Amino acid sequence: MIVMHIDVNSAFLSWTAAYEQQQGIDRDIRKVASVIGGNEQNRHGIVLARSILAKKFKIQTGMSLMEARRQCPNLLVVPPDYQVYVRASKTLREYLYKFTPDVEVFSIDECFLRFTDLNKEEALSLACKIKEDVKNIFGYTINIGISKNKLLAKMAGNFEKPDKCHTCFPEEIKEKLWPLPVEDLFMVGRKTKVKLNRWGIYTIGDLAKTDPNLLFKSIGVYGHMIYAYANGIDGSIFKASPPIKSVGNSSTLKFDVIDTEIAHAIILSLVEMTAWRLREAEMMCKVVSVGIKDKDFNYISRQKKLPYFTDCTKDIYKNICALFDKNWDSRPIRQLGVSVSGLEFAKFQQLSMLKDKNLLKNEKLDKVIDSIREKYGDTAVIRGIFANSELSPILGGYPDDEYPGMSSIL
Ligand SMILES: [Mg+2]
Repeated sequence: MIVMHIDVNSAFLSWTAAYEQQQGIDRDIRKVASVIGGNEQNRHGIVLARSILAKKFKIQTGMSLMEARRQCPNLLVVPPDYQVYVRASKTLREYLYKFTPDVEVFSIDECFLRFTDLNKEEALSLACKIKEDVKNIFGYTINIGISKNKLLAKMAGNFEKPDKCHTCFPEEIKEKLWPLPVEDLFMVGRKTKVKLNRWGIYTIGDLAKTDPNLLFKSIGVYGHMIYAYANGIDGSIFKASPPIKSVGNSSTLKFDVIDTEIAHAIILSLVEMTAWRLREAEMMCKVVSVGIKDKDFNYISRQKKLPYFTDCTKDIYKNICALFDKNWDSRPIRQLGVSVSGLEFAKFQQLSMLKDKNLLKNEKLDKVIDSIREKYGDTAVIRGIFANSELSPILGGYPDDEYPGMSSIL
């Protein structure tokens, strides 16, 4: 079995550039300091993609356009065109079906191809051909990673960009994967990186040689998962698109809850982790749910569709509380759960959203809290409501089920 990971280099920028060329527009935004970014007028726009030259000005994806302009006053800001991206993504996928029927979408600009009839040399030469053909036919570059499983193919695809094919077969792990910094490993976020560094784990190789039982003790099943990844084992936890369908969190309570205020506090602590995961996955939700199990194990679950997408803790919290208040029959509660679904990539929502000022302010607050927690740990910032209580401010870590496909626990 051969698996290839296809990844469009700076997808939004590449696709816009290729589209402009096809339209006969006489410029190539890839050759100047440029970014794709939305909503410059209302001052909330962020950098969605950047050119290589923009990168030289230290412009980062996710940075505000105002900040980016400070770094590079002559920056060319091009608005995104999601219709073009969706079309480009679909056209690329259709093209890839020519080589194998087994194409699995991973995100708007990434997919996996599987082949059962290729040896390693044939795979590499086919990958190089696909990469060149895409450049010639569609006018943009891609990276292709080649291996025996999805994890290693994806890691290989990230090695050196742009316009490259790389292999990372199991026998190459030691030489190619292990020297990389541990945060380069799939699913190791900045938050986990800080933890691992604290334990003296700096490279993927360090992680691969750590005692998995120690990892399990401190970070649970998630520890086993990244340990397996560091050793090149993917355990097929990758799921077909969308990468995450729902994110949820639930908690069996130490005591039966009979009071609305306490129930709301527990909901908030569950939402904290759920919304944080949502933002980590760079997604937003449109549906919120609550699950209530009473002391006699009667269970109800209710959901509500919102008229907009959100990844805001306070917003999700508010809506789930309203749902709870409407549906709770006052029987003592043994277990509470929350989840969000109807997910969409946050990048898609960034501009289409018309939100009130408060919501925007809360989103900014969430980002600040996330970054403080990444740096100083989960409990560095505790919402006022938890400060003098026995309740845990954040409930649930990484769940016991498979992470990217994370099915709701509810
Ligand atoms: Mg990409």
